[in-house]
Amino acid sequence: MELHELTINQAHQGLVKREFSALELTKAFLDRIEKLDKKIFSYLTITKNLATSEAKTIDGLISREKKIPILAGIPLAVKDNILVENIRCTAASKILENYIASYDATCIKKLKAQGAVILGKTNMDEFAMGSSCEHSAFFPTKNPHDESRVPGGSSGGSAAAVAGNLCCYALGSDTCGSIRQPASFCGVVGLKPTYGAVSRYGLIAMASSLDQIGPITKTVADAKIVFDVISGKDPLDSTSIKTSNIQHPTSNIKDLKIGVPKEYFAKGIDPEVEKIVKSGIKKCEALGANIKEVSLPYSTEHALATYYIIMPSEVSANLARYDGIKYGLSKIKNQKSNIKNLLDVYLKSRAEGFGEEVRRRIMLGTYALSAGYYEAYYLKAQKIRTLIRKDFERVFKKVDVLMTPTSPIPAFKLGEKMTDPLSMYLSDIYMAAVNLAGLPAISIPCGKVENLPIGLQIIGKPFEEDRILDIANIFDKIK
Ligand code: GLN
Repeated sequence: MELHELTINQAHQGLVKREFSALELTKAFLDRIEKLDKKIFSYLTITKNLATSEAKTIDGLISREKKIPILAGIPLAVKDNILVENIRCTAASKILENYIASYDATCIKKLKAQGAVILGKTNMDEFAMGSSCEHSAFFPTKNPHDESRVPGGSSGGSAAAVAGNLCCYALGSDTCGSIRQPASFCGVVGLKPTYGAVSRYGLIAMASSLDQIGPITKTVADAKIVFDVISGKDPLDSTSIKTSNIQHPTSNIKDLKIGVPKEYFAKGIDPEVEKIVKSGIKKCEALGANIKEVSLPYSTEHALATYYIIMPSEVSANLARYDGIKYGLSKIKNQKSNIKNLLDVYLKSRAEGFGEEVRRRIMLGTYALSAGYYEAYYLKAQKIRTLIRKDFERVFKKVDVLMTPTSPIPAFKLGEKMTDPLSMYLSDIYMAAVNLAGLPAISIPCGKVENLPIGLQIIGKPFEEDRILDIANIFDKIK
């Protein structure tokens, strides 16, 4: 096996047994990025010096100590909306093109404390808004399984980097499927943790009540390793929660009750995707799991509409800070003659700095929050959000987990949905409710349609990451 093909566990064993050094491992990835990323375009920034110096430090540690943390010396890629101190962080937006992060996100701090090696920052849809990576202000990323297709989004750069062996694992963020859908399109594992399980401190906010950071990995076992390191209470994020006290039921597939929501297999799903996901669920049944059809009426019918009110409302508030004064691009300096007053600075900086999709969502959100419309849109959406959460609470009294397709379709062609935002939004249909209800969910590879990977989504009860990881692990082995 080549170094770039190793899982976290295998790479760790190799380092401990001194079969190769951390520097050799890091170089193997840096060389591969230099050769192959010209075709895939998964990285926005390569942090060669940071990676090399950390790898050397870890080699020093290995020569002195017998035991090293499991992530020590293992190279990862970080989505470009997660801050790494002294490294450019763009959120794939022109408005932050030259922004250098002044501190580490909490998850980065935790990974650095383990001795993780950061290879670079990955491409994404601008401010995480999109499902294809084509909304990056810089360039689109391509799917390593078929370069004429999208890798999914918004964490498309991270998923493509893992699938293309351009890193050992990666971090993504998920506001409405942005970890799970690209993982599904690229044939890798993506875990969206329970809201509050991982600190959001240092994550550039898109929609704060929905955003979560999570791992994108080659195997389920790797996802668990990364999740265990990055999760937990953080005094810098008041919505984070101490998870270590929570008792997780052990998962024996024989006693497991798996719910299959009937609405997730209704209109709009590609028949081949349906076939593959259903046969995956059948395999669990053959192992003794109890499969039950369930219904999530609000979650399916209203989740996307609810998401597309709540998310833009939060976007319009969160993105107000990019005004040409506080951060990044500012039209004060370059076009002095055209700028008459402060309002001009705001308007020109934002018009030039933000892409079309970001501007569309800011306008939608501002409208939904404005006096006279707030009750009709934002408040109504919050009420439906509660009904969606109750849908899940009711169903989780009868079953332990839910299994669904991650996406109704396999990876689509580059350019296919760019002129029709609504059809792009529809590809998030099976993921939106999970974020609105704050639940954990994982996407794991389940099969292929021709050459294109298909993901199976396992949704769990709040803070039962261990359980969905256990089940996903069993699935990983039988598939
Ligand atoms: N496709 C979703 C959107 O465009 C993805 C959001 C996300 O998870 N960051 O809003």
